[in-house]
Amino acid sequence: MSVNLDSKLIAPCGINCGTCVAFFGYTMNGKKRRHPCSGCWSRERPCAFIKKKCKKLASKQIHYCFECTDFPCQTLKSLDKRYIEKYGLSLIGNLKHIQKNGINEFLKYEQERWKCPNCSGVVCVHNKKCYTCGFTR
Ligand SMILES: [Zn+2]
Repeated sequence: MSVNLDSKLIAPCGINCGTCVAFFGYTMNGKKRRHPCSGCWSRERPCAFIKKKCKKLASKQIHYCFECTDFPCQTLKSLDKRYIEKYGLSLIGNLKHIQKNGINEFLKYEQERWKCPNCSGVVCVHNKKCYTCGFTR
Protein backbone atom coordinates (compact mmCIF):
# COMPACT_ATOMS: atom_id res chain seq x y z
CA MET A 1 0.00 0.00 0.00
CA SER A 2 1.56 3.29 -1.01
CA VAL A 3 1.09 6.61 0.67
CA ASN A 4 -1.56 8.84 -0.79
CA LEU A 5 -1.03 12.14 0.87
CA ASP A 6 -3.38 14.99 0.17
CA SER A 7 -3.13 18.64 1.23
CA LYS A 8 -6.53 18.17 2.88
CA LEU A 9 -4.74 16.02 5.42
CA ILE A 10 -2.54 18.85 6.61
CA ALA A 11 -4.35 20.51 9.50
CA PRO A 12 -4.33 24.28 10.21
CA CYS A 13 -1.91 23.69 13.10
CA GLY A 14 0.60 21.95 10.80
CA ILE A 15 -0.01 18.38 11.86
CA ASN A 16 -0.27 15.76 9.16
CA CYS A 17 -3.64 14.14 9.91
CA GLY A 18 -2.55 11.16 7.82
CA THR A 19 -0.03 10.24 10.53
CA CYS A 20 -2.40 10.74 13.47
CA VAL A 21 -3.41 7.77 15.60
CA ALA A 22 -7.07 8.79 15.27
CA PHE A 23 -6.82 8.69 11.50
CA PHE A 24 -5.71 5.05 11.73
CA GLY A 25 -8.79 4.39 13.83
CA TYR A 26 -7.30 4.21 17.31
CA THR A 27 -7.23 6.30 20.45
CA MET A 28 -4.06 7.53 22.11
CA ASN A 29 -4.15 4.65 24.56
CA GLY A 30 -4.48 2.01 21.87
CA LYS A 31 -8.20 1.30 21.89
CA LYS A 32 -10.04 0.99 18.63
CA ARG A 33 -12.27 4.00 17.90
CA ARG A 34 -15.83 3.50 16.68
CA HIS A 35 -14.96 5.53 13.58
CA PRO A 36 -11.53 6.51 12.32
CA CYS A 37 -11.09 10.28 12.13
CA SER A 38 -11.09 11.53 8.55
CA GLY A 39 -8.85 14.49 9.37
CA CYS A 40 -9.35 18.05 10.51
CA TRP A 41 -10.48 19.42 7.15
CA SER A 42 -12.93 16.79 6.08
CA ARG A 43 -14.84 16.71 9.31
CA GLU A 44 -17.02 19.61 10.33
CA ARG A 45 -16.52 19.18 14.03
CA PRO A 46 -13.81 21.57 15.26
CA CYS A 47 -10.36 20.16 15.85
CA ALA A 48 -9.89 19.06 19.41
CA PHE A 49 -6.83 21.23 19.91
CA ILE A 50 -6.74 24.53 18.08
CA LYS A 51 -9.86 25.20 16.09
CA LYS A 52 -12.28 25.25 18.97
CA LYS A 53 -10.12 27.84 20.70
CA CYS A 54 -9.64 30.02 17.64
CA LYS A 55 -12.33 32.21 16.12
CA LYS A 56 -10.40 32.82 12.92
CA LEU A 57 -10.04 29.11 12.21
CA ALA A 58 -13.60 28.34 13.26
CA SER A 59 -14.98 30.99 10.91
CA LYS A 60 -12.54 29.95 8.13
CA GLN A 61 -10.82 33.33 7.92
CA ILE A 62 -7.50 31.54 7.73
CA HIS A 63 -6.48 28.16 6.35
CA TYR A 64 -3.16 27.61 8.14
CA CYS A 65 -2.11 29.14 11.43
CA PHE A 66 0.83 30.95 9.82
CA GLU A 67 -1.62 33.16 7.91
CA CYS A 68 -2.68 34.64 11.21
CA THR A 69 -1.35 37.95 12.54
CA ASP A 70 -0.92 36.29 15.93
CA PHE A 71 1.19 33.40 14.61
CA PRO A 72 2.42 31.64 16.64
CA CYS A 73 -0.27 32.24 19.26
CA GLN A 74 -0.11 30.92 22.81
CA THR A 75 -2.47 28.00 22.08
CA LEU A 76 -0.32 26.88 19.18
CA LYS A 77 2.88 27.38 21.15
CA SER A 78 1.71 25.17 24.01
CA LEU A 79 0.56 22.47 21.57
CA ASP A 80 3.90 22.76 19.75
CA LYS A 81 5.79 22.36 23.01
CA ARG A 82 3.79 19.26 23.89
CA TYR A 83 4.46 17.73 20.46
CA ILE A 84 8.18 18.43 20.63
CA GLU A 85 8.42 16.83 24.07
CA LYS A 86 6.20 13.83 23.45
CA TYR A 87 6.62 13.09 19.75
CA GLY A 88 9.77 14.91 18.63
CA LEU A 89 7.80 16.96 16.15
CA SER A 90 7.40 20.73 15.91
CA LEU A 91 4.09 21.91 14.50
CA ILE A 92 5.40 25.46 14.18
CA GLY A 93 8.36 23.95 12.33
CA ASN A 94 5.94 22.21 9.97
CA LEU A 95 4.01 25.43 9.42
CA LYS A 96 7.19 27.39 8.68
CA HIS A 97 8.19 24.70 6.22
CA ILE A 98 4.84 25.11 4.40
CA GLN A 99 5.08 28.89 4.53
CA LYS A 100 8.57 28.83 3.04
CA ASN A 101 8.38 26.02 0.48
CA GLY A 102 4.68 25.63 -0.25
CA ILE A 103 2.29 22.80 0.49
CA ASN A 104 3.42 20.52 -2.34
CA GLU A 105 7.03 20.50 -1.17
CA PHE A 106 5.84 19.81 2.34
CA LEU A 107 3.70 16.89 1.18
CA LYS A 108 6.73 15.35 -0.55
CA TYR A 109 8.78 15.85 2.58
CA GLU A 110 6.10 14.26 4.77
CA GLN A 111 5.71 11.33 2.42
CA GLU A 112 9.38 10.43 2.89
CA ARG A 113 9.41 11.34 6.55
CA TRP A 114 6.67 8.92 7.57
CA LYS A 115 7.22 6.16 5.08
CA CYS A 116 7.41 2.73 6.68
CA PRO A 117 10.82 1.18 5.83
CA ASN A 118 9.21 -2.23 5.83
CA CYS A 119 6.10 -1.89 3.65
CA SER A 120 6.03 1.75 2.45
CA GLY A 121 2.89 2.35 4.50
CA VAL A 122 2.59 5.28 6.87
CA VAL A 123 4.19 5.37 10.30
CA CYS A 124 2.04 6.99 13.00
CA VAL A 125 3.44 10.18 14.57
CA HIS A 126 2.01 9.37 17.98
CA ASN A 127 3.28 5.85 18.55
CA LYS A 128 5.75 5.41 15.66
CA LYS A 129 3.89 2.35 14.49
CA CYS A 130 2.93 1.31 10.95
CA TYR A 131 -0.69 0.20 11.00
CA THR A 132 -0.27 -1.57 7.67
CA CYS A 133 2.37 -4.10 8.67
CA GLY A 134 2.86 -3.60 12.43
CA PHE A 135 6.43 -2.34 12.14
CA THR A 136 7.50 0.01 14.95
CA ARG A 137 10.26 2.53 14.47
ZN1 LIG B 1 4.67 -1.00 7.36
